[in-house]
Amino acid sequence: MSKSSEQGSMKGLGAKYGSTVRKRYGRIMGNLKKTRRCPSCGSTRFRRTSAGIWACSTCQFKIAGEAYSI
Ligand SMILES: [Zn+2]
Repeated sequence: MSKSSEQGSMKGLGAKYGSTVRKRYGRIMGNLKKTRRCPSCGSTRFRRTSAGIWACSTCQFKIAGEAYSI
């Protein structure tokens, strides 16, 4: 009903986006938070550093992937 009822994964994203985008944003954030393994050393400390760039904090392995998924 009200905008304040949408919390959780929607946090950090203002009301300037439409509901469709916000829905997608929540799904993407869930996708980003998933644990991924570094293809180089197998460490789980492998995460997205910026849009399209994925890096491992253990072996500094860097890879160009999709903006929200690898
Ligand atoms: Zn690694």
